[in-house]
Amino acid sequence: MLEYCLNCDYEKTLELKKEPVIITVRSEAIETIEEFYKCPVCGEKFTSSLGHDALEDAYRQYRRRHNLVLPEEIRHWREHYGLTLTELSHLLEWDEATLNRLEQGALQETSEDKWLKFIMVPQNLLYLIISKPETLSTKKRKQLISQLSTNRIVVEALQRFYSILRENFSDFGERQMLGIK
Ligand SMILES: [Zn+2]
Repeated sequence: MLEYCLNCDYEKTLELKKEPVIITVRSEAIETIEEFYKCPVCGEKFTSSLGHDALEDAYRQYRRRHNLVLPEEIRHWREHYGLTLTELSHLLEWDEATLNRLEQGALQETSEDKWLKFIMVPQNLLYLIISKPETLSTKKRKQLISQLSTNRIVVEALQRFYSILRENFSDFGERQMLGIK
């Protein structure tokens, strides 16, 4: 934490100040609080590196307004099923970097949010795991299928359906079939 002025010879500890600030997120004005240190001698402003982050708070408010998934919700959900970043990004057909950025707090696009909400429904996750058998190890796949499935017969029918589909259409895309994107 920066406590002294690096701009002049003022040697006392700088005081932390808080001021309301308007941050524009996707052309919407969002009011939040900015924290900074201000030197009483030279007037230089220093942003605080610890604690409150105005942009992060603005994103949080924006997500609340638009009912978007929160970064920690994505991570908790992924970890709940024991999926790694690599595995989940393959299931989503995303770059691992994209998924990682969203978990770290980047603001998602509406289309990304829709796709996340879709896969976060247990039945849909099950669907994707069955339809992309190459994504997970056999052990993990079996374990998740039994964790997610309530109906054995439906699961077996789905597995047969996808293996037939794969044999007949090599460039088959689940997302097109499910009507997403
Ligand atoms: Zn100063």
